[in-house]
Amino acid sequence: NVMLANKVAVITGAGSGIGRSTAYLFAENRSKVVLIDNNKEEVDTLQSELETEGMAIEADVSSSIQMHSALKEAARTFGKVDIVFANAGINGAVAPIEDFDPDEWDKTLSVNMKGTFLTVKHAIPYMKQGGGSIIITSSVNGNRVFSNFGMTAYSASKAGQMAFGKMAALELSNYNIRVNVICPGAIDTNIGDRTYPDEEQLKNIRIPTGKKVSPNNTGTPEQVAETVLFLASDASSHVSGTEMYIDGSQTLL
Ligand code: NAD
Repeated sequence: NVMLANKVAVITGAGSGIGRSTAYLFAENRSKVVLIDNNKEEVDTLQSELETEGMAIEADVSSSIQMHSALKEAARTFGKVDIVFANAGINGAVAPIEDFDPDEWDKTLSVNMKGTFLTVKHAIPYMKQGGGSIIITSSVNGNRVFSNFGMTAYSASKAGQMAFGKMAALELSNYNIRVNVICPGAIDTNIGDRTYPDEEQLKNIRIPTGKKVSPNNTGTPEQVAETVLFLASDASSHVSGTEMYIDGSQTLL
């Protein structure tokens, strides 16, 4: 039961976590995969592990020049782009607003929000002939969870990605390109490691219901990838402009 035969999929943030698991699942479903990350070593290794045609490209999603040439290279190699998973992201600085460094604010918005815009922008020329599917990784923090103290820039960037995705869904419907946004809850990946280097600090991040962010109440990147596969494939042909929560109902509490 192969869902992406003959498709060409571009995945940003493919070097780790959700992007990496999605690359594996897409490859299993016979998609050609273009693995983009600013960590070259990780995507090179991943490419060598995948049993499918593909390529690894080093690029920073917040650079228009780099994303322009990355998408161009992908299209030159495979002739088209059918699927874009705009997924690269960072938690960025965590601090009270009063102390928040404006340069750090810009950095988080550049990678998460502008990076999504640039990924989509530079993919459109290669998608508009044949149509396709774009999936954007926002977060429960973009709409429903605002209790991670100090993560104002992250939450603002994730809300921005969500609004962008809805505008894009309408605009790109002319080209038969669907756009959907996923909102994962806490998922067991590397993303927190750089943000909360101190285990004690991590333990102190509380959700008001009394739950703590811990491996015990996280989902897995593989579980997220299954939803991305559905949104990428023709199984979701009438789904566009929606946001899908992948949080085990965490946000209904
Ligand atoms: P991760 O850190 O494991 O993977 C992120 C990948 O993105 C890394 O390989 C990193 O090198 C890459 N990356 C970072 N900045 C980049 C840049 N400027 N250009 C290119 N690549 C870059 O984290 P993850 O949890 O897999 O995160 C993927 C997405 O999921 C992010 O957008 C994140 O905000 C979102 N998300 C994660 C969670 C969670 O709990 N893990 C929850 C909700 C949303």
